[in-house]
This record gives sequence, C-alpha cells and structure tokens, in this order.
Amino acid sequence: MRMNTMEILKEKLKETGFKITPQRRAIVDILLKNSTEHLSSEEIYDLVRVECPEIGLATVYRTMQLLDEVGVISKLNLDDGCIRYEICLDKDDSHNHHHLICKNCSKIMEVKEDLLDSIEKEIQELYKFKILDHDVKFYGLCEDCSK
Ligand SMILES: [Zn+2]
Ligand SMILES: [Zn+2]
Ligand SMILES: [Zn+2]
Repeated sequence: MRMNTMEILKEKLKETGFKITPQRRAIVDILLKNSTEHLSSEEIYDLVRVECPEIGLATVYRTMQLLDEVGVISKLNLDDGCIRYEICLDKDDSHNHHHLICKNCSKIMEVKEDLLDSIEKEIQELYKFKILDHDVKFYGLCEDCSK
C-alpha cells in the first residue's frame, strides 16, 4: 500500500463533499488495512464491529454505496450473490486488474498486468470500439488446490 493512499482518499472524499463521520472513517480504515482482500459488506461489517460495536449493517451498505458513487472503490461481482469491494483510487486513468478465482477454496488472486493490449488493439481495429476498461475473471484451481 502506498504511503499516501489515505491522503489521496481523504482529498477525493473532501472534493466530493463526502462527510467523514467516525463510523465511515472506521469503514474506510478497514478497507485500507485490507487493501489486498476483496471484502463483502458483511465481512466489512464483521471487521468494523470490533472497533465500532454500535455500527449497523445498514450503515455499512450505505457507506459502500456512497464510496462507489464518489468513485474510490471498485466492485467485484463473483456471481455468488455477494458483491466484494476494494479501494481503487485511479479508476479513471487505469484499467481494472484481473482476478483469478479458485473454484475449490474461493481464494481470489490479482493479476496486476493488463496483458490484453494486443486483443484490445484488434478489437479496436475490427469493431471501431474504443476500450476503456474490462472486467476479467478467470476461474480455476489455485496452486494449493491443484496439488
Ligand atoms: Zn484454492
Ligand atoms: Zn482486485
Ligand atoms: Zn486493458
């Protein structure tokens, strides 16, 4: 995690008029602390409750919705009925990373490299379609599960 992530995030939230209440702050802290995880609202709720026992699940849902509107998180839909979130501060200038999802243990790994440049170029030429982003999920078995 970059040192100044919290600062960038705070600036972004301030720009958009997002008010940082103690409960919202606790949620943002959890997201930053677990920036390599892909947490669902329920998992965020369980983690935040440790520090902030009075928080309600509805507050977590609402905060995630607001953070999404502000554009500082990205959603990951694994088609298992639960949306996962991660902090994503430069949504505008960078493509989404890809996700590797283990069918056996449900572990989620990230592929930081884009690797799709040649496919994107081909699509752009063939379909005159300018690609801004993509959402790629690979399903399979992780190293431990394929042993
Ligand atoms: Zn696995
Ligand atoms: Zn991710
Ligand atoms: Zn790309």
